[in-house]
Amino acid sequence: MTAALAIDGGPPVRATALPYTRPTVDDDDVRAVVDVLRSDWLTTGPTVDKLEAAFAAEVGTAAAVAVSSGTAALHLALAAVGVGPGDEVIVPAITFVATANSAVYLGATPVFADVDPDTLLLDPASARALLSPRTRAVLAVDYGGQPCDQEPLRALAGDGGPRRVADSCHSMGAADRGRPVGSLAELSAFSLHATKPVTSAEGGMVTTDDVGLAHDLRSLRTHGVDHDHRARAAAGTWRYEMTRLGYNYRLSDVHCALVLSQLGKSATWTGRRHEIARRYDRAFAGLPEVRPLAVRDGVRHGYHLYVVRLDLGRLRVGRGQVFRALRAEGIDVNVHFVPVHLHPYYRGRFGTRPGQCPAAEAAYETILSLPVYPRMSDGDADSVVDAVAKVIGAYRA
Ligand SMILES: *Cc1c(COP(=O)(O)O)cnc(C)c1O
Repeated sequence: MTAALAIDGGPPVRATALPYTRPTVDDDDVRAVVDVLRSDWLTTGPTVDKLEAAFAAEVGTAAAVAVSSGTAALHLALAAVGVGPGDEVIVPAITFVATANSAVYLGATPVFADVDPDTLLLDPASARALLSPRTRAVLAVDYGGQPCDQEPLRALAGDGGPRRVADSCHSMGAADRGRPVGSLAELSAFSLHATKPVTSAEGGMVTTDDVGLAHDLRSLRTHGVDHDHRARAAAGTWRYEMTRLGYNYRLSDVHCALVLSQLGKSATWTGRRHEIARRYDRAFAGLPEVRPLAVRDGVRHGYHLYVVRLDLGRLRVGRGQVFRALRAEGIDVNVHFVPVHLHPYYRGRFGTRPGQCPAAEAAYETILSLPVYPRMSDGDADSVVDAVAKVIGAYRA
């Protein structure tokens, strides 16, 4: 006789809820931020340069450009490769809305490709079928922290074909065949939001090997002017020229100090995410109703998210009921993401509709993200496993 589910009034697995993610901020991170607050530079000083150099070294690119959010990183990356009105940008259907929105900011149309149901990564065959003379870029997402395979997209691109931009907002610290994320596409956009693998509270980064593109990104992040204030001071002039329409997408030295302090710890934190993921993998190997997403060969996953698909054919209830029951047990599961083409904005503005991306829509009905973050204990992970086993046991068909 198993205990009654908490949702039915039984005792919960956990007395205090376990969040699905939590930022890690150590004492040395706090000190690094306070040091900048006591310095003469609060914004666009030496810490931006230090962070950009350290980030580029970490991912193995010639340049990294710090910006105010992951959304700004996506927006500027697409702007830098010339996305504009009338263009199309291929994006996967399962992602955060910001991926597609970045194309819309530039007057372009996001075209939603279906995903591989085993990984929820953009399906290159679907992308190929959607190519048109107006396709300017393919914006693949490293969903959950797993790098999307850029090789088939490189083949799609060919000469004069679409540019390759990666939404790597989930995947700092991940790698594909030994190459770090950030160096796999022409441009890669990272988020440094508090929920992401390393954080500046709010912030973003674009990495690239193309120093010309990096120059354009630096201009675009500060109003489209050709120099920053330091270059003018060094040249002994007040003059600057605005050569294109840019934005104020700068990241302050205060924010940069936080993420710079975190960078050196990123590999250890990813290692801890792996330990938790292996604990889940082992537990769910014996629970056929719960299927972790597949991991591609040769990939070092970042495990920003640990996503499972429920085998609804083996359950008496839908994903919504499992979600509510797990929340009642004290496990804050989540769902990433509502397929973007199903949002009212996209249906109204671009005429997208259900049925357009069948694999994404079917997978969406089955997915749950389980808690995973570096400061989780083994006991926390085991409580997740216990709660999943309890709920699945109660709802088994
Ligand atoms: C978080 C996220 C973004 C946006 O990043 P912000 O820093 O919040 O602007 C974009 N794409 C994906 C896939 C994300 O998860």
